[in-house]
Amino acid sequence: MNAHAPPPPAPPIGLLVELTHRCPLGCPHCSNPLALERPAAELDAETWKRVFSEAAALGALHVHLSGGEPTARRDIAELTRHAAQAGLYTNLITSGVGVSEKLWGDLIEAGLDHAQLSFQGADKATNDRLGHYDGAWEKKRAFAAMVTRAGLPLTINAVISRANLHQVGAFIDLSIELGARRLEVAHTQYYGWALVNRAALIPPKAETMAAIALVEAARPKLEGKLVIDMVVPDYYARYPKPCAGGWGRVAINVSPSGKALPCHAAESIPGLEFWNVRDRSLGEIWRDSPAFRAFRGTEWMQEPCRSCERREIDWGGCRCQALALIGDAAATDPACHKSPHHARIAAMAAAEAEADESAIRWRSYKEKVEA
Ligand code: SF4
Ligand code: SF4
Repeated sequence: MNAHAPPPPAPPIGLLVELTHRCPLGCPHCSNPLALERPAAELDAETWKRVFSEAAALGALHVHLSGGEPTARRDIAELTRHAAQAGLYTNLITSGVGVSEKLWGDLIEAGLDHAQLSFQGADKATNDRLGHYDGAWEKKRAFAAMVTRAGLPLTINAVISRANLHQVGAFIDLSIELGARRLEVAHTQYYGWALVNRAALIPPKAETMAAIALVEAARPKLEGKLVIDMVVPDYYARYPKPCAGGWGRVAINVSPSGKALPCHAAESIPGLEFWNVRDRSLGEIWRDSPAFRAFRGTEWMQEPCRSCERREIDWGGCRCQALALIGDAAATDPACHKSPHHARIAAMAAAEAEADESAIRWRSYKEKVEA
Protein backbone atom coordinates (compact mmCIF):
# COMPACT_ATOMS: atom_id res chain seq x y z
CA MET A 1 0.00 0.00 0.00
CA ASN A 2 1.05 3.58 -0.59
CA ALA A 3 2.70 5.16 2.42
CA HIS A 4 1.58 8.63 1.25
CA ALA A 5 -1.98 9.87 1.65
CA PRO A 6 -3.67 9.51 -1.74
CA PRO A 7 -5.41 12.57 -3.24
CA PRO A 8 -9.17 12.71 -2.68
CA PRO A 9 -10.99 10.73 -5.34
CA ALA A 10 -13.10 12.34 -8.07
CA PRO A 11 -16.83 12.09 -7.36
CA PRO A 12 -18.58 8.83 -8.22
CA ILE A 13 -20.64 8.87 -11.41
CA GLY A 14 -23.30 6.45 -10.29
CA LEU A 15 -24.90 4.62 -7.43
CA LEU A 16 -26.21 1.07 -7.73
CA VAL A 17 -28.61 0.26 -4.93
CA GLU A 18 -29.69 -3.28 -4.24
CA LEU A 19 -32.94 -2.33 -2.54
CA THR A 20 -33.75 -5.93 -1.65
CA HIS A 21 -32.47 -9.42 -2.35
CA ARG A 22 -36.05 -10.70 -2.69
CA CYS A 23 -36.81 -11.92 -6.21
CA PRO A 24 -39.58 -14.03 -7.73
CA LEU A 25 -37.20 -15.57 -10.28
CA GLY A 26 -34.62 -18.29 -9.76
CA CYS A 27 -31.96 -17.69 -12.41
CA PRO A 28 -28.96 -20.04 -12.33
CA HIS A 29 -26.77 -17.15 -13.60
CA CYS A 30 -27.67 -14.88 -10.66
CA SER A 31 -24.55 -13.06 -9.45
CA ASN A 32 -26.01 -12.09 -6.09
CA PRO A 33 -24.14 -13.60 -3.14
CA LEU A 34 -24.86 -17.09 -1.82
CA ALA A 35 -25.99 -15.65 1.50
CA LEU A 36 -28.85 -13.30 0.67
CA GLU A 37 -29.87 -10.52 3.05
CA ARG A 38 -33.21 -10.87 4.81
CA PRO A 39 -36.11 -8.41 4.49
CA ALA A 40 -35.82 -7.49 8.17
CA ALA A 41 -32.26 -6.26 7.55
CA GLU A 42 -33.20 -3.99 4.63
CA LEU A 43 -32.73 -0.22 4.99
CA ASP A 44 -35.89 1.76 5.59
CA ALA A 45 -37.15 4.36 3.12
CA GLU A 46 -35.79 7.33 5.07
CA THR A 47 -32.26 5.96 5.05
CA TRP A 48 -32.39 5.23 1.31
CA LYS A 49 -33.65 8.75 0.70
CA ARG A 50 -30.77 10.23 2.68
CA VAL A 51 -28.35 8.10 0.66
CA PHE A 52 -29.84 9.42 -2.61
CA SER A 53 -29.53 13.01 -1.43
CA GLU A 54 -25.94 12.42 -0.37
CA ALA A 55 -25.11 10.80 -3.70
CA ALA A 56 -26.49 13.79 -5.60
CA ALA A 57 -24.60 16.21 -3.33
CA LEU A 58 -21.43 14.22 -3.93
CA GLY A 59 -21.81 14.71 -7.70
CA ALA A 60 -23.29 11.36 -8.77
CA LEU A 61 -25.41 11.59 -11.91
CA HIS A 62 -27.55 8.49 -11.83
CA VAL A 63 -28.97 5.81 -9.57
CA HIS A 64 -29.68 2.25 -10.65
CA LEU A 65 -32.58 0.84 -8.64
CA SER A 66 -31.76 -2.84 -8.53
CA GLY A 67 -32.01 -5.99 -6.41
CA GLY A 68 -33.11 -8.79 -6.36
CA GLU A 69 -36.30 -7.38 -7.71
CA PRO A 70 -36.53 -3.70 -6.70
CA THR A 71 -40.29 -3.56 -7.23
CA ALA A 72 -40.66 -6.09 -4.40
CA ARG A 73 -40.20 -3.01 -2.17
CA ARG A 74 -43.60 -1.47 -1.47
CA ASP A 75 -41.99 1.96 -1.29
CA ILE A 76 -40.31 1.75 -4.71
CA ALA A 77 -42.31 4.67 -6.14
CA GLU A 78 -41.58 6.81 -3.06
CA LEU A 79 -37.87 6.03 -3.36
CA THR A 80 -37.87 6.76 -7.09
CA ARG A 81 -39.56 10.10 -6.48
CA HIS A 82 -36.97 11.15 -3.94
CA ALA A 83 -34.07 10.14 -6.19
CA ALA A 84 -35.57 12.04 -9.12
CA GLN A 85 -36.21 15.12 -6.98
CA ALA A 86 -32.62 14.96 -5.75
CA GLY A 87 -31.60 15.37 -9.39
CA LEU A 88 -30.47 11.80 -10.12
CA TYR A 89 -31.27 10.04 -13.40
CA THR A 90 -33.29 7.02 -12.28
CA ASN A 91 -32.94 3.60 -13.90
CA LEU A 92 -35.12 0.69 -12.79
CA ILE A 93 -33.43 -2.70 -13.29
CA THR A 94 -36.23 -5.25 -13.17
CA SER A 95 -37.39 -8.71 -14.17
CA GLY A 96 -40.71 -7.08 -15.11
CA VAL A 97 -42.58 -9.75 -13.20
CA GLY A 98 -45.03 -8.32 -10.72
CA VAL A 99 -45.15 -4.72 -12.00
CA SER A 100 -48.86 -3.90 -12.23
CA GLU A 101 -50.33 -1.11 -14.37
CA LYS A 102 -50.97 0.79 -11.14
CA LEU A 103 -47.39 0.48 -9.91
CA TRP A 104 -46.06 1.42 -13.32
CA GLY A 105 -48.25 4.53 -13.34
CA ASP A 106 -46.91 5.44 -9.91
CA LEU A 107 -43.33 5.02 -11.08
CA ILE A 108 -43.89 7.23 -14.12
CA GLU A 109 -45.56 9.84 -11.97
CA ALA A 110 -42.63 9.64 -9.54
CA GLY A 111 -40.24 10.64 -12.33
CA LEU A 112 -38.65 7.37 -13.44
CA ASP A 113 -36.33 8.01 -16.39
CA HIS A 114 -35.41 4.58 -17.77
CA ALA A 115 -36.23 0.88 -17.47
CA GLN A 116 -33.89 -2.05 -17.95
CA LEU A 117 -35.75 -5.34 -18.38
CA SER A 118 -34.10 -8.74 -18.12
CA PHE A 119 -34.99 -11.66 -20.39
CA GLN A 120 -33.60 -15.11 -19.62
CA GLY A 121 -34.48 -16.47 -23.07
CA ALA A 122 -35.67 -15.17 -26.43
CA ASP A 123 -38.66 -17.52 -26.50
CA LYS A 124 -41.20 -18.51 -23.87
CA ALA A 125 -39.86 -21.99 -23.17
CA THR A 126 -36.26 -20.89 -22.65
CA ASN A 127 -37.18 -17.72 -20.79
CA ASP A 128 -39.50 -19.39 -18.30
CA ARG A 129 -37.21 -22.35 -17.80
CA LEU A 130 -34.08 -20.28 -17.11
CA GLY A 131 -35.96 -17.75 -14.97
CA HIS A 132 -37.58 -20.69 -13.17
CA TYR A 133 -40.95 -18.92 -13.39
CA ASP A 134 -43.92 -20.11 -15.48
CA GLY A 135 -45.60 -17.20 -17.22
CA ALA A 136 -42.68 -14.78 -16.86
CA TRP A 137 -42.52 -14.43 -20.68
CA GLU A 138 -46.00 -12.88 -20.95
CA LYS A 139 -45.42 -10.61 -17.95
CA LYS A 140 -42.12 -9.34 -19.31
CA ARG A 141 -43.66 -8.57 -22.69
CA ALA A 142 -46.52 -6.74 -21.00
CA PHE A 143 -44.01 -4.74 -18.96
CA ALA A 144 -42.05 -3.81 -22.11
CA ALA A 145 -45.27 -2.57 -23.70
CA MET A 146 -46.04 -0.38 -20.66
CA VAL A 147 -42.58 1.17 -20.87
CA THR A 148 -42.72 2.01 -24.55
CA ARG A 149 -46.33 3.25 -24.30
CA ALA A 150 -45.16 5.69 -21.66
CA GLY A 151 -42.39 6.85 -24.00
CA LEU A 152 -39.60 5.80 -21.65
CA PRO A 153 -36.38 4.39 -23.08
CA LEU A 154 -36.22 0.60 -22.68
CA THR A 155 -33.09 -1.52 -22.44
CA ILE A 156 -33.32 -5.29 -22.75
CA ASN A 157 -30.79 -7.18 -20.66
CA ALA A 158 -30.08 -10.66 -21.99
CA VAL A 159 -27.80 -12.71 -19.74
CA ILE A 160 -26.09 -15.28 -21.90
CA SER A 161 -24.96 -18.79 -20.96
CA ARG A 162 -24.58 -22.13 -22.70
CA ALA A 163 -28.35 -22.62 -22.38
CA ASN A 164 -29.29 -19.61 -24.54
CA LEU A 165 -26.15 -18.67 -26.48
CA HIS A 166 -27.82 -19.87 -29.69
CA GLN A 167 -30.49 -17.17 -29.20
CA VAL A 168 -28.31 -14.07 -29.51
CA GLY A 169 -29.80 -13.29 -32.94
CA ALA A 170 -33.29 -13.91 -31.58
CA PHE A 171 -32.60 -11.52 -28.67
CA ILE A 172 -31.79 -8.82 -31.23
CA ASP A 173 -35.08 -9.51 -33.07
CA LEU A 174 -36.99 -9.53 -29.78
CA SER A 175 -35.50 -6.18 -28.73
CA ILE A 176 -36.52 -4.57 -32.02
CA GLU A 177 -40.00 -6.08 -31.81
CA LEU A 178 -40.46 -4.74 -28.27
CA GLY A 179 -39.29 -1.25 -29.22
CA ALA A 180 -36.15 -1.29 -27.06
CA ARG A 181 -33.50 1.33 -27.78
CA ARG A 182 -30.69 -0.73 -26.33
CA LEU A 183 -29.81 -4.40 -25.88
CA GLU A 184 -27.20 -5.61 -23.45
CA VAL A 185 -25.82 -8.98 -24.47
CA ALA A 186 -24.26 -9.77 -21.12
CA HIS A 187 -22.33 -13.01 -20.94
CA THR A 188 -22.68 -14.44 -17.46
CA GLN A 189 -20.22 -13.08 -14.92
CA TYR A 190 -19.22 -15.92 -12.62
CA TYR A 191 -19.77 -14.45 -9.17
CA GLY A 192 -22.07 -15.46 -6.33
CA TRP A 193 -24.64 -18.03 -7.34
CA ALA A 194 -23.41 -18.05 -10.96
CA LEU A 195 -20.00 -19.27 -9.80
CA VAL A 196 -21.65 -22.34 -8.25
CA ASN A 197 -23.21 -23.03 -11.66
CA ARG A 198 -20.19 -22.21 -13.80
CA ALA A 199 -19.62 -25.70 -15.17
CA ALA A 200 -23.28 -25.91 -16.16
CA LEU A 201 -23.40 -22.46 -17.77
CA ILE A 202 -20.10 -21.66 -19.42
CA PRO A 203 -20.40 -21.88 -23.22
CA PRO A 204 -17.79 -23.37 -25.55
CA LYS A 205 -15.30 -20.88 -26.95
CA ALA A 206 -16.06 -21.43 -30.66
CA GLU A 207 -19.79 -20.81 -30.23
CA THR A 208 -19.08 -17.81 -27.99
CA MET A 209 -16.83 -16.24 -30.60
CA ALA A 210 -19.48 -16.87 -33.28
CA ALA A 211 -22.10 -15.08 -31.13
CA ILE A 212 -19.73 -12.13 -30.60
CA ALA A 213 -19.14 -11.94 -34.37
CA LEU A 214 -22.91 -12.01 -34.95
CA VAL A 215 -23.36 -8.98 -32.65
CA GLU A 216 -20.49 -7.12 -34.28
CA ALA A 217 -21.97 -7.73 -37.74
CA ALA A 218 -25.43 -6.61 -36.60
CA ARG A 219 -24.32 -3.35 -34.99
CA PRO A 220 -23.73 -1.23 -38.13
CA LYS A 221 -26.96 -2.49 -39.73
CA LEU A 222 -28.95 -1.39 -36.68
CA GLU A 223 -27.39 2.04 -36.31
CA GLY A 224 -30.03 4.57 -35.28
CA LYS A 225 -32.45 1.79 -34.37
CA LEU A 226 -30.89 -0.36 -31.65
CA VAL A 227 -27.65 0.02 -29.72
CA ILE A 228 -26.10 -3.29 -28.70
CA ASP A 229 -23.73 -3.40 -25.74
CA MET A 230 -21.82 -6.57 -25.10
CA VAL A 231 -20.13 -7.95 -22.01
CA VAL A 232 -17.59 -10.43 -23.36
CA PRO A 233 -17.06 -13.61 -21.29
CA ASP A 234 -14.02 -13.06 -19.13
CA TYR A 235 -12.47 -16.47 -19.53
CA TYR A 236 -12.22 -16.11 -23.32
CA ALA A 237 -11.04 -12.50 -23.31
CA ARG A 238 -7.53 -11.25 -24.10
CA TYR A 239 -7.78 -8.39 -21.65
CA PRO A 240 -9.98 -8.18 -18.56
CA LYS A 241 -12.82 -5.72 -18.12
CA PRO A 242 -12.18 -2.66 -15.92
CA CYS A 243 -14.30 -4.11 -13.17
CA ALA A 244 -16.88 -1.59 -11.90
CA GLY A 245 -15.02 0.97 -14.05
CA GLY A 246 -12.02 0.57 -11.72
CA TRP A 247 -12.24 -0.11 -7.99
CA GLY A 248 -13.51 2.97 -6.10
CA ARG A 249 -13.28 5.14 -9.23
CA VAL A 250 -16.78 5.68 -10.62
CA ALA A 251 -19.42 3.69 -8.76
CA ILE A 252 -20.78 2.82 -5.34
CA ASN A 253 -22.92 -0.27 -4.68
CA VAL A 254 -25.09 -0.39 -1.61
CA SER A 255 -26.42 -3.74 -0.38
CA PRO A 256 -30.00 -4.13 0.96
CA SER A 257 -28.77 -3.74 4.53
CA GLY A 258 -26.66 -0.67 3.72
CA LYS A 259 -23.15 -2.02 3.22
CA ALA A 260 -21.30 0.24 0.77
CA LEU A 261 -19.33 -1.89 -1.69
CA PRO A 262 -16.84 -0.90 -4.40
CA CYS A 263 -18.34 -3.64 -6.59
CA HIS A 264 -21.25 -6.01 -6.53
CA ALA A 265 -19.19 -9.01 -5.37
CA ALA A 266 -16.69 -7.24 -3.11
CA GLU A 267 -17.92 -9.04 0.00
CA SER A 268 -16.40 -12.24 -1.37
CA ILE A 269 -12.96 -10.80 -0.51
CA PRO A 270 -12.12 -11.64 3.11
CA GLY A 271 -10.52 -9.06 5.36
CA LEU A 272 -12.06 -5.96 3.78
CA GLU A 273 -13.86 -3.57 6.10
CA PHE A 274 -17.15 -2.34 4.63
CA TRP A 275 -18.71 0.75 6.15
CA ASN A 276 -22.48 1.00 6.35
CA VAL A 277 -24.59 3.94 5.15
CA ARG A 278 -26.55 3.66 8.40
CA ASP A 279 -23.47 4.84 10.29
CA ARG A 280 -21.64 7.16 7.89
CA SER A 281 -22.35 9.57 5.08
CA LEU A 282 -21.80 8.41 1.53
CA GLY A 283 -19.13 11.10 1.09
CA GLU A 284 -17.14 9.82 4.08
CA ILE A 285 -17.44 6.26 2.79
CA TRP A 286 -16.38 7.23 -0.73
CA ARG A 287 -13.30 9.11 0.48
CA ASP A 288 -12.13 7.10 3.45
CA SER A 289 -13.70 3.64 3.67
CA PRO A 290 -10.93 1.02 3.98
CA ALA A 291 -12.72 -1.18 1.43
CA PHE A 292 -12.84 1.60 -1.19
CA ARG A 293 -9.22 2.52 -0.59
CA ALA A 294 -7.92 -1.05 -0.67
CA PHE A 295 -7.61 -1.34 -4.47
CA ARG A 296 -8.14 2.26 -5.61
CA GLY A 297 -5.58 3.57 -8.09
CA THR A 298 -2.50 1.54 -9.02
CA GLU A 299 -0.29 1.47 -5.91
CA TRP A 300 -1.59 -1.92 -4.77
CA MET A 301 -0.73 -3.63 -8.05
CA GLN A 302 1.69 -6.48 -8.48
CA GLU A 303 3.53 -7.39 -11.68
CA PRO A 304 2.65 -7.69 -14.52
CA CYS A 305 0.00 -4.98 -13.92
CA ARG A 306 2.37 -2.66 -12.04
CA SER A 307 4.47 -1.83 -15.08
CA CYS A 308 1.81 -2.44 -17.74
CA GLU A 309 0.76 0.33 -20.12
CA ARG A 310 -2.90 -0.66 -19.66
CA ARG A 311 -2.92 -0.30 -15.87
CA GLU A 312 -5.06 2.85 -16.03
CA ILE A 313 -7.30 1.40 -18.76
CA ASP A 314 -8.52 -1.83 -17.19
CA TRP A 315 -7.18 -1.21 -13.66
CA GLY A 316 -5.88 -4.78 -13.43
CA GLY A 317 -9.32 -6.32 -14.04
CA CYS A 318 -11.52 -7.80 -11.36
CA ARG A 319 -10.30 -8.29 -7.78
CA CYS A 320 -13.07 -10.75 -6.94
CA GLN A 321 -12.21 -12.87 -9.95
CA ALA A 322 -8.50 -12.86 -9.08
CA LEU A 323 -9.41 -14.11 -5.62
CA ALA A 324 -11.95 -16.68 -6.83
CA LEU A 325 -9.70 -18.18 -9.50
CA ILE A 326 -6.20 -17.95 -8.08
CA GLY A 327 -6.70 -17.12 -4.41
CA ASP A 328 -5.10 -13.65 -4.40
CA ALA A 329 -7.31 -10.54 -4.64
CA ALA A 330 -4.29 -8.34 -5.45
CA ALA A 331 -3.10 -10.47 -8.37
CA THR A 332 -3.58 -9.71 -12.06
CA ASP A 333 -7.04 -10.84 -13.13
CA PRO A 334 -6.37 -14.24 -14.77
CA ALA A 335 -8.74 -13.20 -17.59
CA CYS A 336 -5.73 -11.19 -18.81
CA HIS A 337 -3.45 -13.07 -21.20
CA LYS A 338 -0.45 -11.57 -19.37
CA SER A 339 -1.39 -13.39 -16.16
CA PRO A 340 0.77 -16.48 -15.54
CA HIS A 341 -2.50 -18.29 -14.70
CA HIS A 342 -4.37 -17.38 -17.88
CA ALA A 343 -3.67 -20.59 -19.83
CA ARG A 344 -4.78 -22.77 -16.92
CA ILE A 345 -8.02 -20.80 -16.52
CA ALA A 346 -8.76 -20.98 -20.25
CA ALA A 347 -8.15 -24.75 -20.21
CA MET A 348 -10.46 -25.10 -17.20
CA ALA A 349 -13.19 -23.11 -19.00
CA ALA A 350 -12.86 -25.32 -22.09
CA ALA A 351 -13.17 -28.48 -19.95
CA GLU A 352 -16.18 -27.13 -18.05
CA ALA A 353 -17.89 -26.13 -21.29
CA GLU A 354 -18.16 -29.86 -22.02
CA ALA A 355 -19.91 -30.60 -18.70
CA ASP A 356 -23.50 -31.88 -18.45
CA GLU A 357 -26.04 -29.02 -18.37
CA SER A 358 -28.32 -31.03 -16.11
CA ALA A 359 -26.04 -29.94 -13.25
CA ILE A 360 -27.78 -26.52 -13.20
CA ARG A 361 -28.79 -25.33 -9.72
CA TRP A 362 -31.66 -22.87 -9.63
CA ARG A 363 -31.59 -19.92 -7.30
CA SER A 364 -34.25 -19.97 -4.64
CA TYR A 365 -34.73 -16.81 -2.62
CA LYS A 366 -37.08 -18.54 -0.20
CA GLU A 367 -34.79 -21.46 0.42
CA LYS A 368 -31.78 -19.19 0.93
CA VAL A 369 -33.26 -16.75 3.39
CA GLU A 370 -35.03 -19.40 5.39
CA ALA A 371 -32.16 -21.88 5.49
S1 SF4 B 1 -32.75 -14.48 -9.66
FE1 SF4 B 1 -32.55 -13.63 -11.75
S2 SF4 B 1 -33.87 -11.82 -11.82
FE2 SF4 B 1 -33.58 -12.39 -9.63
S3 SF4 B 1 -31.84 -11.12 -8.93
FE3 SF4 B 1 -30.98 -13.08 -9.60
S4 SF4 B 1 -30.46 -12.77 -11.78
FE4 SF4 B 1 -31.84 -11.10 -11.18
S1 SF4 C 1 -1.29 -6.95 -16.98
FE1 SF4 C 1 -2.79 -5.97 -15.63
S2 SF4 C 1 -2.96 -3.85 -16.36
FE2 SF4 C 1 -1.93 -5.04 -17.98
S3 SF4 C 1 -3.56 -5.67 -19.38
FE3 SF4 C 1 -3.29 -7.35 -17.89
S4 SF4 C 1 -4.74 -6.91 -16.23
FE4 SF4 C 1 -4.53 -5.03 -17.44
